[in-house]
Amino acid sequence: MAGIYIHIPFCRKMCHYCNFHRALVDENINVLLKSLVKEIELRKNYLGHDFVETIYFGGGTPSILEISEINLIISTIRNNFKTDDNPEITLEANPDDLGREYLQKLIENTLINRLSIGIQSFYDEDLKLLNRRHNSVQAKESVAYAQEAGFSNISIDLIYGLPGMTADRWKSNLKQAFKLNVQHISAYHLTFEPGTEFYRLLNEGVLSQLSDNESLKQFELLIELAQKNKFIHYEISNFAKDEYYSIHNTNYWKQKKYLGIGPSAHSYNYISRQWNIADNNKYIEGVNNSRPYTEKETLDATMKYNDYILTSLRTMWGTDLSYIESSFGAKYSAHIAGKSKKFLDGSNLTEDRNILKLTEKGKFISDYIISELMFP
Ligand code: SF4
Repeated sequence: MAGIYIHIPFCRKMCHYCNFHRALVDENINVLLKSLVKEIELRKNYLGHDFVETIYFGGGTPSILEISEINLIISTIRNNFKTDDNPEITLEANPDDLGREYLQKLIENTLINRLSIGIQSFYDEDLKLLNRRHNSVQAKESVAYAQEAGFSNISIDLIYGLPGMTADRWKSNLKQAFKLNVQHISAYHLTFEPGTEFYRLLNEGVLSQLSDNESLKQFELLIELAQKNKFIHYEISNFAKDEYYSIHNTNYWKQKKYLGIGPSAHSYNYISRQWNIADNNKYIEGVNNSRPYTEKETLDATMKYNDYILTSLRTMWGTDLSYIESSFGAKYSAHIAGKSKKFLDGSNLTEDRNILKLTEKGKFISDYIISELMFP
């Protein structure tokens, strides 16, 4: 089983915290879409005999696409890859794109069966600070309209740890989110990424980071409210009700193959990682004129081991020590046995039937634990 990721590198407005590869939407979008179709055809052998179980439109802002454009991409995938009968097909969407008419067409005329809505906050003040296009009313309406249209697998994204965000504000954001009856929530702590407007404002002293204590409090609230609302905390930043896990992302974490189409998209096929150039014009030029537009890194055992630790330990399925022994060998088994001891003794990790998992306490220092377990 494998997944295909399609990167739509256009947005209508630049959010101040974002460092994804994207540009303001312009007439170039038509040429780019043709290039995406061409790249799908060019790379039709990348996944070998694996069936495509998931398709994920990410970005950028995929909800700027017309219905016919979405269908063209999906049908090109189905014509060039072995695809499951009913693959999970996710569209990342901005709330202000999700009007009733668009949603109706999406559900009736495309195979999109999962929405991931970039809500981020239900407070206008936060949305303005983030430079989002939508407001708090649109945030709520987009979910209601999607449900009304018949979508029954909806995820929303939220951001916490914003400058000036209090625990009370975050709590009320979360309460609002759980009231919406969505199946999935992804919640990320804000990071100040180099090259973003937020990073510049941080360095100029206009914005300041929350204290570690405050950040921790907000993460605690997230876990507490998710539990109260019967959401399963299946990955550090991801929560699902009734097992509505993101199959696409779970496959990344379970080391399955994926093909990334579009500028900046990454691919993985067990042997190597590949990434497309993060430049729309160079990407278009490369795909259409048989010039290189990807870079490749062949993975050695240490890289594979480190990738496995990084992705598996963050999930509720944990890290399989037998898999480490059989796939990477005794050197890595001995390494993890030695490095995990202090975390097992300190109740940050548990081990049961050869599976290592983060405890509730360990989740608060997951980045540190993971970095310690990695092979230097
Ligand atoms: S956060 Fe999303 S909508 Fe905002 S600029 Fe980044 S990709 Fe575009």
